[in-house]
Amino acid sequence: QCITHCPVGALRERDDTDKILDALDDPETIVLAQIAPSIRTAWGEEFGLSPEEATVERLSACLKEMGFDYVFDTDFSADLTIMEEASEFLHKLTHNEGQFPMFTSCCPGWVRFIKSHYPEFIPQVSTSKSPQQMFGAIAKSYYADILKVDPKKIFSVSIMPCLAKKAECAYPNMVDKDGNFDVDVALTTREVNRLIRALHISPAKLSDRALDMPLGIGSGAGNIFGATGGVMEAALRTAYYLATGENPDPDAFQEVRGMEGWKESSFSIAGNKLKIAVVHGLANADRLLNALKNGQVHYDFVEVMACPGGCVGGGGQPIHDQVEMAALRAPVLYKQDREGSIRFSHENPSIKSVYKDYLGEPLSEIAEELLHTDQKGWLMPQEIK
Ligand code: SF4
Repeated sequence: QCITHCPVGALRERDDTDKILDALDDPETIVLAQIAPSIRTAWGEEFGLSPEEATVERLSACLKEMGFDYVFDTDFSADLTIMEEASEFLHKLTHNEGQFPMFTSCCPGWVRFIKSHYPEFIPQVSTSKSPQQMFGAIAKSYYADILKVDPKKIFSVSIMPCLAKKAECAYPNMVDKDGNFDVDVALTTREVNRLIRALHISPAKLSDRALDMPLGIGSGAGNIFGATGGVMEAALRTAYYLATGENPDPDAFQEVRGMEGWKESSFSIAGNKLKIAVVHGLANADRLLNALKNGQVHYDFVEVMACPGGCVGGGGQPIHDQVEMAALRAPVLYKQDREGSIRFSHENPSIKSVYKDYLGEPLSEIAEELLHTDQKGWLMPQEIK
């Protein structure tokens, strides 16, 4: 019973490492990887490496050692998600379109939960694809053009903290116009660590390898996606800029940080007073949706992450018996954001290039085609008549 009803699919763990080995063995296939923000807080735990040692560049070295052709950063497409989602939110707000709150859409565990338990709220879920899916769509279009290769030659792998991401990349609406999947395989942190061990790679002995360009650059705003509140904070930073033409203090929205299960706050952006909420854990999401349904609360924008603490505590991360790691991992991301040189998604130079050279602007026709989806594009079993 639980196995079929677990909203994040975490009770149906499957191992996809053989698919990676097959792709790496095929000389005709270009194998590329994207590494999710929260992986850098956790992958080294199983090798006894500190977060300072277990960098994303060290993981890149491991993947290159395995034979991956290109290694990129999902922080890039988290920035892209922010450009699209913040623009979508501002468009709704200024045109008074649809109902509020708008809900974030980057967590497939949450999207599955709302579809199965509160389908009446589905029209309020952002149409922006998650960073995993946006990355895959850009890899097989913009980046295939850069490489001058047929997108069918690209095998797109995501390294995620998450089991629900395996289901997400296989949904029928996560394809290009020719029916090719944006992402071919989603691997969890634990699976990638199993591959490292199976291939006798010693991360401690490798030197860092820089990520590949141009999809290997992410901002601090993209990086904090891995912790509860991070998507909201990143979106507000860019929404403020898009609405006013000026950057806010990058820490202006830090009230949404922290491990409290249901946080709320109010901010004023270009004369609009916004009430926002951030919840993590599906019990909190259930309470919030019930309160919205009963008219007990009102919000303009709501972030929900299914796992307690967000992706840093994701179901695919290394497990330490009886120890909840999310609160220990999240500060790693906030430190990297604080110390990084780019703290706004809209200042990521690769984001500027992809809009200038390929997408035009957020919510353009091609951006809608590649980066957005119909949240009704796949149905829960109970919705199929
Ligand atoms: Fe996956 Fe993150 Fe959502 Fe958990 S919070 S289900 S790890 S996307």
